[in-house]
Formats: sequence, C-alpha cells, structure tokens
Amino acid sequence: MTQELNYWLTTVQMPTPPGQQLPDVADVAIIGAGFTGLSAALALAKRGAKVVVLEAETIGWGASSRNGGMVLSGLKLGVNELISKYGRELTRRMYAVSLETIDCVERITKQEGIDCDFARTGHLEVACKQNHFDDYARQVEVIAREFNHQLRIVPRNQLCSEIGSDIYYGGMVDEVSAGLHPARYVAGLAAAAMRAGAAIYEHTKLQKIERESQNGAAGFRLTTSHGTLRARNVLVGTSGYTGAATPALRKKIIPIGSFIITTEVLPQAVARELSPRNRQIYDSKNYLYYFRLTPDNRMLFGGRAAFFPETDQTIRQSAEILQRGMISVYPQLRDTKVEYVWGGTLDFCFDIMPHAGQIDGVYFAVGYAGHGVAMATWQGHRMAEWIAEGKTDNPFAEIPFPGAPLGLYNGKPWFLPFAGAYYKVLDWVS
Ligand SMILES: Cc1cc2nc3c(=O)[nH]c(=O)nc-3n(C[C@H](O)[C@H](O)[C@H](O)COP(=O)(O)OP(=O)(O)OC[C@H]3O[C@@H](n4cnc5c(N)ncnc54)[C@H](O)[C@@H]3O)c2cc1C
Repeated sequence: MTQELNYWLTTVQMPTPPGQQLPDVADVAIIGAGFTGLSAALALAKRGAKVVVLEAETIGWGASSRNGGMVLSGLKLGVNELISKYGRELTRRMYAVSLETIDCVERITKQEGIDCDFARTGHLEVACKQNHFDDYARQVEVIAREFNHQLRIVPRNQLCSEIGSDIYYGGMVDEVSAGLHPARYVAGLAAAAMRAGAAIYEHTKLQKIERESQNGAAGFRLTTSHGTLRARNVLVGTSGYTGAATPALRKKIIPIGSFIITTEVLPQAVARELSPRNRQIYDSKNYLYYFRLTPDNRMLFGGRAAFFPETDQTIRQSAEILQRGMISVYPQLRDTKVEYVWGGTLDFCFDIMPHAGQIDGVYFAVGYAGHGVAMATWQGHRMAEWIAEGKTDNPFAEIPFPGAPLGLYNGKPWFLPFAGAYYKVLDWVS
C-alpha cells in the first residue's frame, strides 16, 4: 500500500522552536525556513545579527525536506548554452560556484555536526538517445578546457559498472557530487541557526512588506499572521512557494511540481545491482527522471510526472506514472512495493537560472530549478555576507533577471499545460 507521505520525514525529528511572541524589531527578517533562509540565518546569527526567521508552515516544510537529496555540480543549463548566453568569464565563475556549493554543504555539515548521511558518491547522467550521449563528449571537453574540471564518459558497453539498467546509451560521471538526507540536513541547519542565536517563528506568514524609516534609518515594516515586525533588512527565500506578499518576485517565478516515490527496503544485493556505486542518477530528458538509493537501501525515484504543483490528485497520479517509469528503467523492480509518494514545488525562472539581488530594497535568492540543495545553501551564505558587509561576490546577482515574455504573467502559471506538452514533444524530437 502506497502512503501519500514524504518518506524522509518519517525518519527525522524536526527541531521545535520555543514559540515565543514575535519581537518588535530585528536586524534581519528572513522569510522561509528552508535551505536558503536557514543557511542565511546561521551565517548572520554567527556574525552577531539579531535574526528572525518567519515560516508560514513549519521548519523545512517546503522543497527543502521534499527533495531527492542530490548535491550536484553544474547548473540546470548546459555549459555551451551558458557560454553562448553569458560569455566565458561569467560562465567560468558560475561553474566554479557550482563546485563551491558542494564544499559549502560539506563544510556546514562538518562544522555543525549535522548527521545527514552526506557522502561524495558522485552523480551519473544517463543518455536517453545516441545524440545525447554524443553531446556528453563535447561537454566533458569544454568543462575540462574552460573550467579545469574533469568529468568521465561511460560508454554503453561499460555502463553496467554504474547502473543495473540496459536502456541507456551511455553516461557521464562527476565524482565531486554528493548525496544527503535532505530532511535531516534542513533539521540540522535549523538547530544550528537557533544555537547561533537566530529565532525561528513557525506558522507565521508574511503578509505584507512596507518600507519605513525610524530615527532616520531606512528599514521595513512586516505584517505577519502573528503581528508586526520591524527590520533593517529583509531576505526572501521562499523559492517555489513565493506568494502574494512579494508580488514583484512572484511574477518572475514559475512554480513547477516534482514528485517522488520510494520503494520498500531492498535486499543489499538488489540495491548494489541497481546502483553499484551508489550514484545520484538522472537522465538526459527535459521531462527527466532522477533516482538514487536512500541510506537504508530503498529506491527513490522522482520526476516531473505532472507539471502542476502538489495536490492530492497530482500526487496520486504521479505514483502510478513514476512506478511505470521506474519499471521501465529497472524491470527488476516489477514486483517491488512502492511504500511512499509525495510531491513538492520547484522554482523555475524564465531563463532557468538562479538569481539573487534586491527588489525594492528587499534581498532575495531564488531560481534553483531542481538544483537547490547545494545552491540554496551557498546563496543563503552569500546573501548573509551581502547583508552584513554591503557587498559580495555573486555571479547570479550580475545577470539580468527576466520576467515573462510580454509581461503575460501575474504569478498564476496558466501556461503550465502548454509548457508540459512542449517539453514532451521536445523529448520526442531532440
Ligand atoms: C520533489 C523535489 C525534488 C528535488 N530534488 C532535488 C535534488 O535532488 N537536488 C537538488 O539540488 N534540488 C532538488 N530540489 C530542489 C530543492 O529542494 C530546492 O531548490 C530547495 O530546497 C529550495 O530551498 P529554499 O529554502 O529556497 O525553499 P523551500 O525549501 O521551498 O522553502 C521555502 C519556504 O518558504 C515558506 N514561505 C513561503 N511564503 C511564505 C510567507 N509569505 N511567509 C513565511 N514563509 C513563507 C514556505 O512555507 C517554505 O517552507 C527538489 C525539489 C523538489 C520539490
């Protein structure tokens, strides 16, 4: 029997904040208690700032506890596309950041003693078509030449050393990528932020932000579901759950559903056959599947089974679609029970890039497009530096942040069915 439940959450105890009255003032108000908000809260509190985190639901409620736990190098867009859009120099800096983000997660887990099964197992991208595999060779060459980083091509006849499936045309491995238990990681980040002095307020939804100045100092007045807070600075880290309280940001983000199933615990021999090197695996389609073993040897299998964010209906439909997908990759799992299914919302910007900056004086970091475990952690850290020191080095703050073409979007993604159909067609023809 498949439960509509996030498997990760069944194996973690989230910290419970003390739940006091919201204070009148803070140096920094952070919206959202996910990787972005909590990593920023930790870094700012360690610098001595009075930090208040407002979370509409509970710690880690958003994508940060619902994801695949893949800590990946690279960005969602391929390197050739990045170079043609942003040029060599900026792309070099972005790629270097993508490697640094993994070090950042590793450093925090070590420094804060977060027990979240962080392991540099590497990632494996598998090619669904011959031309996708041919492109891997070009990517590996560019990445080695331009970014001095080595990936490895795995031809089809050697792929069985990486994956127990024979449907793919070959693969590409990056050994620096890692896997972790995301719910334990977000729980550990919250505990570390609180230890450092940050205050987290659950079930406290930001409703409105207004500029105001007090005693000549510029700042903000935040109206929440539990009273009012004044803060000198505000950081928004609400990702795919960005809502009406930050309308200008909401208009730049497309919330897209992603869904995951996990099987029952597999015998050790089966688990090793499916993923001999315990890689973080994803395929080369736009409508991609991503999959890995959990620390207790379940197969976790995810994908964009429906483009719409999670509802009872999209989660139920996804369970069936993903189980069929999993069996098409691994026929060995035909009789294996699927025990859990859940969904979450990704934040795509119109250019499929991460973005950081300020809108009307309010700081933000968003746009992780399914690569947020490492990037959101790093962005939170960099945003803390920016807020505390007034400057930072962040290539994603230097690129244009596009809105919808012709401005035809108010935050309600009416075009998702068309986008879903478009990407399905693209997967057939490309
Ligand atoms: C199913 C799924 C699988 C994924 N797999 C991977 C993966 O394997 N690897 C990877 O790198 N990335 C993955 N991602 C993406 C990654 O999880 C996210 O990019 C990352 O968690 C974003 O973190 P965040 O802190 O910015 O946002 P979130 O974790 O989404 O947190 C945002 C928080 O803001 C709160 N909020 C919203 N509005 C308000 C308000 N008005 N007031 C107060 N609080 C508010 C929400 O309640 C929420 O808790 C996946 C995502 C999903 C959904």
